[in-house]
Amino acid sequence: MSKTESETREFHAEVRQLLDIVIHSLYTDREIFIRELISNASDALEKLRLTQLTENEVFDGDLPLEINITTDETARTITITDYGIGMTHEELVENLGTIAHSGTKAFLEKMKEGTRPDVIGQFGVGFYSSYMAAERVEVFTHSWREEGEHLRWESDGASGYTIDEVEGQRRGARIVVHLKEEHEEFAKTDRVKGIIERYSNFVGFPVNLNGERVNTVEAIWLKPKSDVSEEQYKEFYQFTAHAMDEPRYTMHFSADAPLAINALLFVPGENAERLGLGAQPPGVALYCRKVLIDQHPEGLLPEWLRFLRGVIDSEDLPLNISRESMQDSALVRKLNEVLTKRYLKFLDKQSGVDPEGYREFHDRFSRFLKEGIVASPAHQELLAGLLRFGSSMTEGDEVTSLAGYVDRMKEGQEDIYYLVGPSREAIEKGPFFEGFRARGLEVAFFTEAVDEYVLEALREYKGKKLVAANRAGIELEELPEDPEGESLSGEETEGLVSWLNSTLDDRVARVDAGKRLVKHPMVALLPEDAPNAQMRTMMAAMGQEVPETKAKLEINVRHPLIRRLSSLQESQRDLAAMVARQLTDHALLSAGLEVNAGEVSEGMAELLEELLEQPGEV
Ligand code: ADP
Repeated sequence: MSKTESETREFHAEVRQLLDIVIHSLYTDREIFIRELISNASDALEKLRLTQLTENEVFDGDLPLEINITTDETARTITITDYGIGMTHEELVENLGTIAHSGTKAFLEKMKEGTRPDVIGQFGVGFYSSYMAAERVEVFTHSWREEGEHLRWESDGASGYTIDEVEGQRRGARIVVHLKEEHEEFAKTDRVKGIIERYSNFVGFPVNLNGERVNTVEAIWLKPKSDVSEEQYKEFYQFTAHAMDEPRYTMHFSADAPLAINALLFVPGENAERLGLGAQPPGVALYCRKVLIDQHPEGLLPEWLRFLRGVIDSEDLPLNISRESMQDSALVRKLNEVLTKRYLKFLDKQSGVDPEGYREFHDRFSRFLKEGIVASPAHQELLAGLLRFGSSMTEGDEVTSLAGYVDRMKEGQEDIYYLVGPSREAIEKGPFFEGFRARGLEVAFFTEAVDEYVLEALREYKGKKLVAANRAGIELEELPEDPEGESLSGEETEGLVSWLNSTLDDRVARVDAGKRLVKHPMVALLPEDAPNAQMRTMMAAMGQEVPETKAKLEINVRHPLIRRLSSLQESQRDLAAMVARQLTDHALLSAGLEVNAGEVSEGMAELLEELLEQPGEV
């Protein structure tokens, strides 16, 4: 591009859509555009600071790292200037003409579905938010690179933008927001001062408004708890998390051993991933003595704690630690371990102090705890203790914990029993629960699809094995007395079982008379070593070969149908076989095992036909 030429380009389609939403649909909290621009300025300064550590040649190298904001009521403008890294021509096109951030794309999708706009900051719609108040925005910039050009970018936010060269830009970026008449308030000093104090008080560089310093740059995480008010915690949370809501939990702690740590960690009010925003980047920044090392450090906390926001400051880190070496550093691993443990203990404490509040947290964030159980065996026990669920000993939607279960275990009971199903009702009505109920054995009810997987990964809690109550191989004690009266004799049972084994040989691993059932005639149990239903679905989804799973059948020799089957098997073998197959198919279905739906209904039709042709009662 020659010095005098001006270049006009179109926005990418996605940017146009985004601008359309920003201009026409986001009416609340318009003022946050100022926060967004300051935050961009702060990022640009931060990047410059890091660049200066390694580069000798930096354009305008002696400029201070600060943000200057000026307002002009007559011209109806607000101008945000930073001496950060600035942008080259190519970067201007890339950064302000396209949407490179997957988060912004997710935002677009969500907006189309009508999601609340107060999550705007979390997506990084950042710069474009200025069009909530602007009729035109100019960006004057010069990159930190000596050879960069002096540039001006301009757009009215409609269809495109122009870039031309202008003389004498300083390093960094100067954003001139030309306000719409109805939003002239943002050119007033007092109004802008209030906004900066509210949203940008904790920016790590001086923010000056019309020449006067506004923010305090206070590292509140280094202060003793007693010197920080709830209001300050909230403000700081909203600042670091780009949030508008209140933090659900605030944990502020410092330790000297084994590592010097000051941490201020927040759980947001809502789980952004549950709102459909996709996996979030790590949200706890790493500092060393107030100096930001990394805004989104990987490996500082386990991935499943990515919902946390806040700051961790450790004096033990070398100041010049690079992001790359950080991930492999033994020190960071140690920090990770200490902080994770500490945080899980904090949650455990909260669950005791305010069970209702904890329940609300659990409703929104338990998915992360479950992810942790699968991903971090070292933290399994603490994580498992944080799970809440209904059980056969709780009423309605009341919940309990594994510790509560263990406390209630019957004398002689060795294992923790659980069932996973779509709902409490479905589990209670199913065939797997009744044998446990009859013996007064508690069964924990889990109702999320991931639970089967998670509980199998967990295996045990405080030395007690976790056992799925739909598996074969559980030894139950004899019931004190026969609750349903009549039963098949030993000999009859033997005859029926051996006939069933030969008749059903192609479908099931084995048939036995069992003690599990009370009301149901038959149940299909998953062999001890077979993958559960969810595992099988996952294996299939991943294109793996799913091993054929043959269930073990248990029959209930007290059930009228089974008793009738015993005599039918002697008088009308073919009909008895049809009935046995139907019962088996239903038991397999209840167990979540594959059956051929076509064959089941065909078999049912044949059976009914046969029955209706029978003279008299069947
Ligand atoms: P985000 O801040 O989430 O990345 P924005 O739309 O606010 O999204 O900004 C897009 C990109 O434009 C930024 O990632 C950055 O590279 C660049 N940018 C924005 N403001 C500045 C600035 N003041 N100085 C340098 N680069 C900037």
